[in-house]
Amino acid sequence: MEAFLHPYQVNYIRSKINLLIGAFYFAGDYRVVDASRENVIQSLYDLLPGLTPEQRALIDDAANVRDKDELKLYMERLQPYIIPFPAITAAEIRKLFPKVKKLVLPDLANLDFSKITYLGWRDIATHALYIVYPLHGKWIGVECQYVTGAKKVSAMCTWCNRGYGGDGVALVTKQIKNRQIVDGYTVVGNHICLNSPACNQGITSTEELEHFLLRVK
Ligand SMILES: [Zn+2]
Repeated sequence: MEAFLHPYQVNYIRSKINLLIGAFYFAGDYRVVDASRENVIQSLYDLLPGLTPEQRALIDDAANVRDKDELKLYMERLQPYIIPFPAITAAEIRKLFPKVKKLVLPDLANLDFSKITYLGWRDIATHALYIVYPLHGKWIGVECQYVTGAKKVSAMCTWCNRGYGGDGVALVTKQIKNRQIVDGYTVVGNHICLNSPACNQGITSTEELEHFLLRVK
């Protein structure tokens, strides 16, 4: 069976199974559990159209997971079928940021590419957040700026839909040319996790990420 799952889809599957485990614990009514199972499987079919019979059998097994131990085993079964983030070298990354003089590079050697939907890293000295992503099969690199609030605020990350207090999520902005005004600029911003590996563990859709990148690239 060929690899057919992107890392964000694996996160989505995990989040749905966690809901199902919750139903087992709290519902106490087999009809509620059955309905949850049906909902979960339907949402996974919607996420993954065009499954082969083998792939479908693997996905159907998600409905049989009843607790955290079984979830761990099930996620291990998915592992061989994950399409990792495409390989990229430091030289290729540098080429994406020709204007950045002293580019800080991500720690490529210690990244698990099977858990990455987008490559993100920070330069703490310049308050820059770098994003690298294969948008429609073409590498794009975006240098953004971030501001961390002096006050402790809790914000939701637009990309992974999770919230953190403190400076876990920050307003990340990119200045882009505004074609309607001569020499005009517009600032595009999203609240995003500053810890990109953590964000990648929670991201279940690429919609907001791609929407942002399409606007600022
Ligand atoms: Zn996030």
